[in-house]
Amino acid sequence: MFLKQIVLKNFKSFSGKNVLDFPVFFTAIVGPNGSGKSNVVDAIRWALGEQSFKNLRISRGSDLIFSSNKKNFSAGFTEVELIFDNKQGLFPLEFSEVCITRRIDREENNSYFLNHQPCRLKDIIEISATAKLGLKGFSIINQGSVDHILRVSAQERRIMLEEDLGLKNLGIKKEEAKRKLESTLINLDKIQALRQEILPHLRSLKRQVNRWEKIEKIKTELSLLENKYFINLYNRLLKERNTSPLDFNAIKNKIENLEKEIQEQSKVIGLIDNQEDKDLETEIRNLTKEIIDLQNQRSVLLRDLGRQEAVSDKQVSGQDFEKKLHSLKEELKSWLSLFDLEKIKEKINYLIEDLNSFLDFSDKPQEIENTKIQKIQFELEKIEKELRNQNEQLNKLQEQQNEQSLEFRKKFQEIELKRTEKERLYREMQREEILNEKFELHLEDFKRRLKESNFEFDDFEKNYQNTQEEMITDEALNILERKIWKGKQELIEAGAEDENIIAEYHEVSERYNFLNQQINDLNKGTEDLQSLIKELEKQIEEKFNEAIKEINEQFNHYFRLIFNGGAAKLVQKREQTDNGNLNWGIDIKINIPKTQLKSLEILSGGEKTLVAICLLFALVKQSKAPLLVVDEIDAALDEENSRRFAEILKALNQKTQFIIITHNRMTMSAVQAIYGVTLTADDCSQLFSLKLEEAKALAE
Ligand code: ATP
Repeated sequence: MFLKQIVLKNFKSFSGKNVLDFPVFFTAIVGPNGSGKSNVVDAIRWALGEQSFKNLRISRGSDLIFSSNKKNFSAGFTEVELIFDNKQGLFPLEFSEVCITRRIDREENNSYFLNHQPCRLKDIIEISATAKLGLKGFSIINQGSVDHILRVSAQERRIMLEEDLGLKNLGIKKEEAKRKLESTLINLDKIQALRQEILPHLRSLKRQVNRWEKIEKIKTELSLLENKYFINLYNRLLKERNTSPLDFNAIKNKIENLEKEIQEQSKVIGLIDNQEDKDLETEIRNLTKEIIDLQNQRSVLLRDLGRQEAVSDKQVSGQDFEKKLHSLKEELKSWLSLFDLEKIKEKINYLIEDLNSFLDFSDKPQEIENTKIQKIQFELEKIEKELRNQNEQLNKLQEQQNEQSLEFRKKFQEIELKRTEKERLYREMQREEILNEKFELHLEDFKRRLKESNFEFDDFEKNYQNTQEEMITDEALNILERKIWKGKQELIEAGAEDENIIAEYHEVSERYNFLNQQINDLNKGTEDLQSLIKELEKQIEEKFNEAIKEINEQFNHYFRLIFNGGAAKLVQKREQTDNGNLNWGIDIKINIPKTQLKSLEILSGGEKTLVAICLLFALVKQSKAPLLVVDEIDAALDEENSRRFAEILKALNQKTQFIIITHNRMTMSAVQAIYGVTLTADDCSQLFSLKLEEAKALAE
């Protein structure tokens, strides 16, 4: 037996602990109306996890707990235990006996136990479904609901059948896969939208990165060109540098020494202060003056003499005139040595006077003395003598002066030579200073240009020492400069670069790739889910069709048995749902013998129940359900149909445990054991085993 025992504790009308044992396959529960028979079915249903109050015929959970007005007693909790034999492993548990327990207290706290260990409702539902005890299947048929399967839509019927056929799990898997597919597609849409959203930004970033890369390329090329350019430029610059610099200190010393010598020698030749020279000059000047005075005196005497002689001669002959002119010429010659203008003027006056007197004398004859002539001549001789002496003296002084100036010139030339040398040394120093300064300026300019091109001079110089760069011609250098200029122009045209763009590009493209990857994964997931759904649908379809085939065999068999011929079968049918979708459903086709009736609708209530029972037995047989609990499914049958029903019951093989609540004597005669339920005086349900006759009497 599959269900070995039911233990009820304070369940509905059952007060305290009540135990039902099921030692045989076919058990009937009989008893008067309201004695509590259906409460046993409710107990099984509830213990297996039923949540519907309606199915349990209650309005709240605590309605399940025994309470009696007559006894004025309410129990604090109720508990139902179902003890199953699991030797065949119908439950997926490693126990030979499985005990499912459910308990509820007045506070409506539900608790579930598997083999007395607390568990979840989900665990109970799962193992029950595996053992084909599903609450929505056909294992437990409530009172009046056997023909429910005839009343439902084809679609609902298909779902009920699938559940009964154990295809529910596949169906759940399929629905899960469908839900997953739906959410995957939604995710896919979302992610595709996200990807689409960032795409323009990514493209714009990519363009900027391309531009950036172009700038970087130009920069690299430019740097190489500039390196070559600067190395060549520096090479040229270094050639400007003085390789054998002057010893400035030595030169300065030399200049200082020269200056000292110049000063000293200058002093020696009196350039600076020489009294001796001055004295000599004064002496010469005085002597000259004296000579001039003597010459004047002589001129006066000569004039007087001339006048006296003229008086004596009374006439001035041509010879005299010539003489006069000659003396004038001599006189004038002697003036040439004169420097003093005043003296010259004075002499000119004397001369004019002399000429006047000569001319006067030549015009009118005058009286002369002879003694006077002699006197004058004597005087003249004296003056002449003195003049000679003085002239001699002057000559000596002039010679002395000449000698002195010769020495002066010699020394002066020496000084000049030294000065020239000093100036040459100055110029040399200056020239070198200018050259050095020029080089420094060029070097500064070069460094500035280097800096402008972002080269560090120190690094550059190190690099220059080790460079393999070839030296190029001036023309090539010009071409290089133009190339650099062009590169710089290109850089300006390319605009400013923004390093953040690169980081942002990487970030966005990483995100883009991530989204792409996700889209790929989701696409793959979609494909997998679609093929899983197809596979599941195929499996369900195949199993379902196979099962329907088997069910139809049995259905037709039972139908023909009960209706004495005819035919019945389940057929697949396409059915339009409310929301317009097409769904597969299962329709029932019957063919009642001797009539042409083919529709279920026109059958009587009893006939409908019989069709439903045929189908129920066919399903139970096909599914090899281990337990079938039915509540008064035979209530609507007349005697003849009850007999047929009892025949079928007897013919059922002993693979499905059968618990039936019945008032039907035919049914009672077909079962192996009967439980009687009565109400005690306190309105408590009471259980006891009955013999068939007792049962019949009790049922009546
Ligand atoms: P019928 O043959 O008419 O179908 P039955 O034998 O199936 O009757 P049940 O429906 O199982 O009878 O039992 C109903 C009885 O159980 C009622 O008398 C009801 O008062 C009683 N009952 C239901 N819940 C409780 C409860 N919590 N405490 C006590 N009695 C209860």
